[in-house]
Amino acid sequence: NRRYVLAERPKGEPNDDTLRLETVARPEAGAGQMLLRNEYLSLDPYMRGRMSDAPSYAAPVEIGEVMVGGTVAQVVTSNVDGFAEGDWVVAFGGWQDYALSDGKGVINMGKDPENPSWALGVLGMPGLTAWAGLTQIGAPKPGETLVVAGASGPVGATVGQIGKILGCRVIGIAGGAEKCAHVVETLGFDACVDYKADGFADALKDAAADGIDIYFENVGGAVFDAVLPLLNPSARIPVCGLISQYNATSLPDGPDRMNYLMGQILRKRMTMRGFIVFDDFGHLYPQFAEQMGAWVKDGKIRYREEMISGLEQAPGAFIGLLKGEAFGKRVIHLAD
Ligand code: NDP
Repeated sequence: NRRYVLAERPKGEPNDDTLRLETVARPEAGAGQMLLRNEYLSLDPYMRGRMSDAPSYAAPVEIGEVMVGGTVAQVVTSNVDGFAEGDWVVAFGGWQDYALSDGKGVINMGKDPENPSWALGVLGMPGLTAWAGLTQIGAPKPGETLVVAGASGPVGATVGQIGKILGCRVIGIAGGAEKCAHVVETLGFDACVDYKADGFADALKDAAADGIDIYFENVGGAVFDAVLPLLNPSARIPVCGLISQYNATSLPDGPDRMNYLMGQILRKRMTMRGFIVFDDFGHLYPQFAEQMGAWVKDGKIRYREEMISGLEQAPGAFIGLLKGEAFGKRVIHLAD
């Protein structure tokens, strides 16, 4: 059983010393347990937070512990009711070939699911994040302008496409011309603005000529600076993620814009609300699964996956994810 454990807590960007590959004996399922063979490992931005022991909504991975991660796996042996050999499951099996599970929080997809790895993306955690954050906090109405950052990523791409289905004018923000072209041409957003290009703030202002009613926040930092003055009265801001800050080791240089932000929230009577997907919206999963399953089946929601082969590629692929190298949902296909 190959597995990656946390070797040290990164300061700033994770690097080659952050995780360590170990080989240990394959575990065996005891009473009330099943053995899972991980087939696909999801790479997600939240993993950066788990490498750190700063106070957060979830406990950190301890030094020497297996790195956490969502997985799609096949049951090898089972002593858990409702799970049999050969079943495909969605679990939190971590960065390793095999994992033991007691079945809690594990979803059984049966013997022959279509596109099993999609359960780590549009049909799983990132999809639920997009759907619930937008509908429950963003509360979109037809004709409103929705802006979403990280627009080519699994959450942002899904947010924007749902926004279109619900009748919004949708503007994406993404890094680079290729991602922006994909967001408009393949995903069907009305516009996409490249935040890495010169004149980003003006281009966003032009694209959002009627102001912004909903800003789905995935990135923070300089992107939010450009969005803030464009927000309309009663704007809603689901605060989902701040990926531009995950490797930060200090606050940005001044001027301090806190009072400007608070003044905008006050005068425009805006709502900013953070959420943690399973804590806040886990109970909506069945409703989400039914709705999103239908949209994906009908081709109303498109999904781009970046499949990378080999567990040993996972650390590099994760470091790259935080730097904006992913184009679509990054998934590791574990190979023997
Ligand atoms: P993404 O694949 O979208 O995240 C990677 C992308 O983030 C990169 O491709 C890059 O896109 C963008 N990015 C990286 N650095 C920066 C930067 N400095 N400035 C602007 N953009 C940057 O991930 P997900 O779709 O999985 O997640 C999106 C967000 O949602 C994350 O912040 C994540 O933490 C959060 N999240 C929150 C959840 C919750 O419960 N609250 C649950 C799931 C996700 P580009 O090339 O366009 O810059």
